[in-house]
Amino acid sequence: MKWLAEHAWVGGQWSAKVLLEADDTGHWSRIQPHAPLQACEGAQPLGMVLPGLTNAHSHAFQRAMAGLAERTERPQDDFWSWRERMYQVALRMGPEALEQVAAWLYAEMLRAGYTQVCEFHYVHHDPQGHAYADPAEMAWALVRAAQRTGIGLTLLPTVYMRQGFGQDGLSDSQRRFRADPDFVLGIQSRLTHFAQSNAPGLLYAGVALHSLRAVPPEALHEVEQALPQAPLHIHVSEQTREVQDCLQSHGRRPIEWLTEQVSLNSRWHLVHATHATPHELKLIRDAGATVVLCPTTEANLGDGRFDWTTALSLGVKGSVGTDSHVNRNWTEELRWLEYVQRLQWQQRNVSLQHQAGDTAGRLLGWALEGGAAASGLPLGGLAVGQRADMVELDLGCDALLGLPASHVLDAWVFSTPSSPARRVFVGGQAVPDRREELAPGFVQAMASLVS
Ligand SMILES: [Zn+2]
Repeated sequence: MKWLAEHAWVGGQWSAKVLLEADDTGHWSRIQPHAPLQACEGAQPLGMVLPGLTNAHSHAFQRAMAGLAERTERPQDDFWSWRERMYQVALRMGPEALEQVAAWLYAEMLRAGYTQVCEFHYVHHDPQGHAYADPAEMAWALVRAAQRTGIGLTLLPTVYMRQGFGQDGLSDSQRRFRADPDFVLGIQSRLTHFAQSNAPGLLYAGVALHSLRAVPPEALHEVEQALPQAPLHIHVSEQTREVQDCLQSHGRRPIEWLTEQVSLNSRWHLVHATHATPHELKLIRDAGATVVLCPTTEANLGDGRFDWTTALSLGVKGSVGTDSHVNRNWTEELRWLEYVQRLQWQQRNVSLQHQAGDTAGRLLGWALEGGAAASGLPLGGLAVGQRADMVELDLGCDALLGLPASHVLDAWVFSTPSSPARRVFVGGQAVPDRREELAPGFVQAMASLVS
């Protein structure tokens, strides 16, 4: 498989006349800017090409409530009241509806340029809270959804054991989430075997720990020891109340506490880390762990403001995710990451930190590297050995029309950022746009979920 791109994003910049070749396993075997004419014989022509990006944090079922939680009868609405409404959606979602909702969502993500999604999966049991005949029933629904669309999937079955620091058991509305390390490691092992024979290179299984409030320290240790290599994701420090509860229970802030409990290293991906202090950001950096930021969801939920400028100056690595899916475009995650800083500091191009360059390119490079780490797969961009994922932009869309090639990425992120990609490739294969055929299933699932 061989393509010739007019321009492609290679090594953090646009290069012209780029020859891209993929091997039989779906990984890049040759990336050559300014390729000589004879080498390009038989190559399929492409316009402007970006690498595919990993969506490092998703709860697919929450796509069913995007746009439905923007009203309230309470005097005050916050993350915790939103969570109660989210639980009601989770309680209604069966495997069939989950597959339809996730398939639609994944098709949307592909058109937006995501080619891999890390699914932080914690709705395990039937609506009564009993295990399905196949305990992995809901996980398989997500696998089927990914396979129907062609997106790569890093599935993270999630440990969920208690309702808060020092509390035993779950609340009734959390009954579908109950999962100890044995349960989750069993599913992870089955997914790994399935992936090896059915979807090598596209499906990968790690494990998530829901949060420090939902997982006791013994379970953190057990998972860490049982899985010496796979990626480990955890929600941490998303809410000030969580920080206060952790301080009260353990006398430590969440990331300080986590660092003392596990061997924090490059396998660990800390989702949100919104209230991390500079000291905690240093702990993350020194351990080689990453943060997974979800700027549009964090804004939607009123979580707080991540200290992005300190994280950048310290060299903290990380990625972005769409989490609750109030937005499905990575362009908007990157834009929000930058705009929150502009509003705070009353400056522009803050992510460049007084260096020359282009902000969108800086943000994309950061998210590419961290996204590959979070997914556990070689998804670091257009480079030999990485999975052959790429996105061809539609230069006829309103955001990009008439722009010089050098500014196309800037405009994709900062001007009308919802323009869908023209063509998307995953593992060297073109992935068709399936939104038209998947829309009726999504509408049907929504009718069963929304009253
Ligand atoms: Zn989450």
